[in-house]
Amino acid sequence: MGETLTMDTRESKVRSYSRAFPAVFHKALGATLWDESGRAYLDFLAGAGSLNYGHNNPRIIARMTEYIQNQGIIQGLDMMTRAKREFIEAFDHIILKPRQMNYKIQFPGPTGTNAVEAAIKLARKVTGRFNVIAFTNGYHGMTAGALAATGNVYHRRDYVGYSGGITFMPFDGYFGPDVNTIAYIRRFIEDSSSGLDTPAAVILETVQGEGGVNVAAAPWLQALQALCQEHGILLIVDDIQAGCGRTGEFFSFSESGIEPDIVTLSKSLSACGLPMSIVLIKPGYDVWEPGEHNGTFRGNNLAFVAATEALKQYWSSTAFTSQIESKARFLRSRLDAIAGRYSHLNVAVRGRGLMAGLSIDDHPELARSISAAAFHEGLILETCGNQDHVVKFLPPLIIESDELARGLDMVETAFAKAVKTHSDAANSAADLTGDTLHDCSQA
Ligand code: PMP
Repeated sequence: MGETLTMDTRESKVRSYSRAFPAVFHKALGATLWDESGRAYLDFLAGAGSLNYGHNNPRIIARMTEYIQNQGIIQGLDMMTRAKREFIEAFDHIILKPRQMNYKIQFPGPTGTNAVEAAIKLARKVTGRFNVIAFTNGYHGMTAGALAATGNVYHRRDYVGYSGGITFMPFDGYFGPDVNTIAYIRRFIEDSSSGLDTPAAVILETVQGEGGVNVAAAPWLQALQALCQEHGILLIVDDIQAGCGRTGEFFSFSESGIEPDIVTLSKSLSACGLPMSIVLIKPGYDVWEPGEHNGTFRGNNLAFVAATEALKQYWSSTAFTSQIESKARFLRSRLDAIAGRYSHLNVAVRGRGLMAGLSIDDHPELARSISAAAFHEGLILETCGNQDHVVKFLPPLIIESDELARGLDMVETAFAKAVKTHSDAANSAADLTGDTLHDCSQA
């Protein structure tokens, strides 16, 4: 109790997840979190996508424990260490080579936003241009450069007026399925009177995580790549949330066949929740001067050890991708069933792999109520989207099938309860005004 008071009164108001999930958590394993009182919660948020391999994955923890017990280096700046060498070798042998990918690896500061800053800065240096295209509903981080590329004004409001050299363009489907937004972007790039400075780069998420689980179709990505290549514009894929297996393959863009010039990775890369980021750079674009993009915390060696273990354990064969895909099919079928049951509320299913969303466009307020009701049931479930109208599903990729099913049962209960509460409230308001409202709990 004393602790809660301290957190409520001493911790800055900026805190966020603790408001949506008001428990004091204490232990975690796999897809489960326990609070101080011992109550268990299934975790469909997975550290905002940073715990794809689950909490305290036993093999990864065992490897880290062994490393620490043998006085392994924890902080290595960007010096050469055995842990870093083993990570680079594993990344090269297990991830890059089998995919015929040739990239240099930069270690920026440890958070995702650091990687995005480095990527944007490098693209400007390579091309000698400043403007960068980012997309509606994109999210790239909270430091000035990455923030400028983040669509939602809630985060940018103290920077309104600061463009940061970013121009926003419509993402795939932004104007609905019938408008080809690549044609729109092409026109801006090719008309010297459009007002758009030829960009250094285009930065995008192939599946927008915070912006509402919006999926870019493969042909759209291919057309974007072709447009970039025609005009010498670098293509940056921010795979911080959608990468590391979240959509099935290790990289979210593999399915489309595109080859980005720069890729940012973070979140689940360290496999255990420790901060670690990398920027993958096509070798010809590695034009950094030594130390030009510095940072104290670029050598989180314990994270390197954990990351290496995860690469070996999960990515040495295609078995993990098959498991993710089969769980994703199950998730999709359950979400389709929910959407069908509430079709009168215009609920749509979005996503790829184990990154999914239920979007409730006509009743955006329902999404938060569903998240709150799910928490009551014992499930951590986040919302996202420009109106917070999408219930977001990011279970750990290692989740057991029965846990996934149990979590989805809780989602169904939470959905029904939230809909009932809203329709009761709407009907009592109608009683007061004498109107008769449609009963939205009719499912
Ligand atoms: N890019 C994407 C796609 C993200 O989802 C996030 C985090 N939600 C970031 C960048 C920023 O990462 P971080 O919070 O570690 O700075």
